Amino acid sequence: MEALEKRILRDGRALSEHVLLVDSFLNHQIDMELMRDIGAEFAERFRGAGIDRVATIEASGIAPAAMAALSLGVPLVVMKKAASSILNADALTTKVHSFTKNSDYTLMVKARFLPAGERVLFIDDFLAMGEAAFGAARLIAQAGCTLAGVGIVIEKSFQDGAKKLAEAGYDVYSLARISRMAEGVIEFA
Ligand code: 5GP
Repeated sequence: MEALEKRILRDGRALSEHVLLVDSFLNHQIDMELMRDIGAEFAERFRGAGIDRVATIEASGIAPAAMAALSLGVPLVVMKKAASSILNADALTTKVHSFTKNSDYTLMVKARFLPAGERVLFIDDFLAMGEAAFGAARLIAQAGCTLAGVGIVIEKSFQDGAKKLAEAGYDVYSLARISRMAEGVIEFA
């Protein structure tokens, strides 16, 4: 998506070889016109995939996922990062390792917000090692749903997530794919 690549080059900041800061338009201050276009792009790509519902992880996935759900005309469910694994009878949980925070968290969703048999599109802001996406995939499977697609705003293709998700058979669509970063340098695949 050309407008997104341009925006990343203009306003994104590579903090290191691994971490990209995009807080001026994607996850702190949010450019809603860009989000609307991102949502439309995901909707166009997955419109034929029989999507019943969009799922994302709080907090940075919510803006792009919400616009995609709106464009597709389906509900959005936000998986929560639980501080502890205090269980509620209806809660599905799985442990996820956070690449950016270098720690584990419990990902939680209430089963009633993922009705069995539905086809779910998972959307997130970044794809790095794939831990978040695989965590979401586990919850979607626990709920008896099908992960029908993975939509990513920014894929860091030099990390293993995209490859691992493709090997697992998931349909991954990334709007921008970064092949290399260094301090002050961002290159697309
Ligand atoms: P993964 O689980 O694929 O290793 O990492 C994806 C998650 O980590 C995303 O949900 C995102 O919030 C966060 N993340 C990974 N890499 C970056 C990055 O370079 N910049 C930002 N802002 N977040 C990232």
